[in-house]
Amino acid sequence: MRYDVLTLFPGIFAGFLGESLLDKAIQRELVQVHLHDFRKWAGNKHQSVDDRPYGGGQGMVLSAAPIVDCVEEIRGDSPVGRLILLTPQGRVWDQVAAEEMARQQDGRVVFICGRYEGFDQRVIDVLQPEEWSLGDYVLNGGEVAAMAIIESVIRLIPGVLGDSESSVDDSFSEGNRLLEGPQYTRPREYRGYRVPDVLLSGDHQAIARWRREKSLQRTQERRQDLLPKTDPPRSSGEEIGE
Ligand code: SAM
Repeated sequence: MRYDVLTLFPGIFAGFLGESLLDKAIQRELVQVHLHDFRKWAGNKHQSVDDRPYGGGQGMVLSAAPIVDCVEEIRGDSPVGRLILLTPQGRVWDQVAAEEMARQQDGRVVFICGRYEGFDQRVIDVLQPEEWSLGDYVLNGGEVAAMAIIESVIRLIPGVLGDSESSVDDSFSEGNRLLEGPQYTRPREYRGYRVPDVLLSGDHQAIARWRREKSLQRTQERRQDLLPKTDPPRSSGEEIGE
């Protein structure tokens, strides 16, 4: 998977790219991340990439030309892969979206990170990117959103997580889409809280059953929207075929 990220603040990515699983995935050539400071495409003496909004109002708007020129240069004449613009107005990123992106392993994704008041509409009109959001809140820039998306995807790419770690039972994941239940490690008792006996029983079927129950219970308590939809019970007077 190759990611190209357009950003005015490439330094934000330094720690992210140099630590933990992503660093290892990059070393093992499972993932590439290329950063592009689109200020280099400003094309003016002051390297300015933003301007005051037409019609008045607060803040500065990112100009179309530097971003469009940068995207066209890095994608070349025959663009492949996906072009994603980060915006709070986009579709909200989720586990299904991450799984879909992880399946396009040899693919290429270009992210455009906004700043200030966001983009001149012509960035979207000309480039026709997919628009994705991290959630219904406003960040200062798209960088954190790009990092979150990259991280949610690379952990699904075979070989990135170690043998001892796995994503299959994680909350929202393919298979059940529910919240994961509680987990425990040593010691058996901590400040009066004991590990449930079933987890110490060695009975794998009972453990799997307990985990499933806890997962359902937690989802019921916290995220009913994730539960499979069931038809409401029929009232006694209702006849089939009505
Ligand atoms: N004025 C814009 C609006 O109301 O939609 C918000 C601009 S925001 C301060 C600056 C940039 O941060 C955006 O252009 C976008 O790239 C990024 N951003 C902010 N919130 C985001 C979110 N929830 N998801 C993805 N990107 C976000």
